[in-house]
Amino acid sequence: MSKNEELREKLFCTADHACKKISDDELKTADSFAEGYKKFMSACKTEREVVNFVKDLAYKNGFVNFDPKESYNAGDKVIYNNRGKAVILAVIGKRPVEEGVRIAAAHIDSPRLDLKPNPLYEDAEFALFKTHYYGGIKKYQWTAIPLALHGVVVKADGTSVEVNIGEDAGDPKFVVTDLLPHLAAEQMKRSLAEGIKGEELNVLIGSRPFRDDEGSESVKLNIMNILNEKYGIVEADFLSAELEVVPAFGADDVGFDRSLIGAYGHDDRVCAYPSVMAVLEAGEPEYTVLAVLADKEETGSDGNTGLNSYYMSYFIGDLARMQGGVASIALSNSECLSADVNAAFDPTFPGVYEKMNTCFANKGIVVTKYTGSRGKGGTSDASAEFMGRVRRLFNENGVVWQVGELGKVDEGGGGTVAKYVASHNIDVVDVGVPVLSMHAPYEVISKLDLYMAYKGFLTFFTK
Ligand code: MN
Ligand code: MN
Repeated sequence: MSKNEELREKLFCTADHACKKISDDELKTADSFAEGYKKFMSACKTEREVVNFVKDLAYKNGFVNFDPKESYNAGDKVIYNNRGKAVILAVIGKRPVEEGVRIAAAHIDSPRLDLKPNPLYEDAEFALFKTHYYGGIKKYQWTAIPLALHGVVVKADGTSVEVNIGEDAGDPKFVVTDLLPHLAAEQMKRSLAEGIKGEELNVLIGSRPFRDDEGSESVKLNIMNILNEKYGIVEADFLSAELEVVPAFGADDVGFDRSLIGAYGHDDRVCAYPSVMAVLEAGEPEYTVLAVLADKEETGSDGNTGLNSYYMSYFIGDLARMQGGVASIALSNSECLSADVNAAFDPTFPGVYEKMNTCFANKGIVVTKYTGSRGKGGTSDASAEFMGRVRRLFNENGVVWQVGELGKVDEGGGGTVAKYVASHNIDVVDVGVPVLSMHAPYEVISKLDLYMAYKGFLTFFTK
């Protein structure tokens, strides 16, 4: 190395492809970690399904249901299930909880189409569902792709039935139809945002009338009869249901080199999965460690299963109280990686990114000091000290990482759960995986970044 090259290496800040920074063995480990992730992604498409998956996995790994009347010792593993839609896994540390806990907080809801309370109708001898989209979507992306129906229906007698149609081989699929180009001259003049309107996101679910029926709405009657035979439900049961329309495809490798993964809902299960795996591997940690998997982030974190609710701080407070500690002290001493995705640089749309401060797929996990929009509005903006702590931690433990903002200044913006965590006086910064086509039905991430998320969270929990 020449003197100038040495100086460059010493003085300049650069981020390289993770491939250049890890051994062949670690590359193999990363690729095999991705296989488990793909199975998880194909099996879990809603917050409820993630909670069920994580619950089963936790029980297999010796976790027990959290009981606020109990008390726990170092190494004990507990699971707190918030209404089947959000979940916390915790391993009790050797130090008192009052000295603070280490949190990785991800969300497990993803943008999708929710059925309206009164969804079912017949028009022109088709049966359809009315939907109300959930989270930020580009509506045109949800037409003419195979869709599945997931969720739960609570019947009049209080019993509930789970629905999952469109995922198994041989299952029927559903679809939102779009206009053929031949007749779309007027539609094509609409803006992209209006190309498909919210009230045009109607899901096609059938087209055959009930046999021997001379009355009205025979196709609807036939569908309702099928649903009644299969699930024992009547139309009024839709009023007490959460039925969600999601893409009907699973996770796949993307690219000849299989370096990427395409799937629905990487945002934010690509952070939820590694944070759970890191808690399972945390052993007997020094500090109590938590994987917090929240609901409702995509609609603003409101509601009692979102992180704008007190359930996480109640949980930490309960842990502190069991040891004779004080909740506010435990919270104030705690640290959190808000585990959420950021927008990876896309060479097809370079104009919206500022290349010096954007994240790239394959350059490791992205640390996002602040999110928000218009002059950092609506963000918690991590302190230099906490950024410094995370930087040292990752550098000293071989975690490949980079920094990134969400696009150019004033180009747009977004938020995460970080500010809701910060409101409990917890030090927090966003750390997650760069994503291409974020919020599309099929998003793309890098296997190496996924693995670095796991390694980063495990390092944060155990070092
Ligand atoms: Mn997210
Ligand atoms: Mn999102």
